[in-house]
Amino acid sequence: MTPRTGFLHLGLIGFPVEHSLSPRLHAAALRSIGLQGDYRLYSVPPLPGGESALRTLLDRMRGGEIQGLNVTIPHKRAVITMLDELSPSAGAIGAANTLRVRDGKLAGDNTDAAGFWADFCFLLESAGRNTQPGKAMVLGAGGAARAAVYALANQGWQVVVAARDPLQAAQLSADLGVPDLPGQITVIPYNRAGLAAHRDASALINATPLGMQPAADTCPWPVDLALPPGAVVYDLVYRPAATRLVNMAWTRGLPARGGTGMLVEQAILSFQLWSGQRPVRSALLDALTDPQQGAIL
Ligand code: NAP
Repeated sequence: MTPRTGFLHLGLIGFPVEHSLSPRLHAAALRSIGLQGDYRLYSVPPLPGGESALRTLLDRMRGGEIQGLNVTIPHKRAVITMLDELSPSAGAIGAANTLRVRDGKLAGDNTDAAGFWADFCFLLESAGRNTQPGKAMVLGAGGAARAAVYALANQGWQVVVAARDPLQAAQLSADLGVPDLPGQITVIPYNRAGLAAHRDASALINATPLGMQPAADTCPWPVDLALPPGAVVYDLVYRPAATRLVNMAWTRGLPARGGTGMLVEQAILSFQLWSGQRPVRSALLDALTDPQQGAIL
């Protein structure tokens, strides 16, 4: 992609969007490579009420007024029916978090999957493990789980998805199984017996909101059940930066990492799709730190 030089109008569609960290991240990305631009928040209520506002924003993109949009809850899935084309990951996951106009067409991409994969590999490598496919247990079957499961199965991992809603999990498995991903996806009940049966997993990934502020004392893994002894632990939750699950893993001597790195990686990948340039990673990490108060996560 040819690097852009003009002013970039970027933004985020979601509801609510007020507390998003994306404006900080993308302002830092723009600064880090000396590009002019802005990143606005577009609060669009859930459909059907927000449909005309959503379509108006998409038309503004088609008209060249806005160059790039992120999409978050509750529109990531609904928006795909309004686009002209989808990347393979957005199509398989059934959700788009990054929109751009490519060759005159409004295109949707999903950078959560590649963002997760990049940061998960960082965890594996920093733990001295190789990135060869193994067995991963993913907790949850919502939007973020879809991205993580897609990334893992696409790399040939055997993925066990623990979900409390069997229908949601069956849908995830059916959708992601379609593009013939090299890895296998199995669904298990999200209960003590289900989890205990898969303690041979080499990776445990939390894709539920359990442990997230303001309920930081909750934990997606039963506190009286031993963690998989040979696993690395990745928690997609990034508020707090180190969740109860991450702390539990560290206490047991297991390599573990929270979701801040994924947040930064997906932003870098979105920004690259819009600008054709890679922003400076450390600048984005610095943007998540308040000079007076320290880490803001
Ligand atoms: P979501 O679509 O609402 O999915 C959440 C999943 O967790 C659903 O399967 C849900 O099941 C399950 N769940 C919720 N509460 C549960 C409980 N008490 N027990 C068992 N299962 C439970 O949310 P999401 O967008 O996937 O986000 C999940 C988490 O990932 C959030 O904390 C979000 O902040 C984080 N995330 C991080 C990044 C990053 O860049 N680091 C990116 C995306 C998301 P039900 O449907 O039955 O409720």
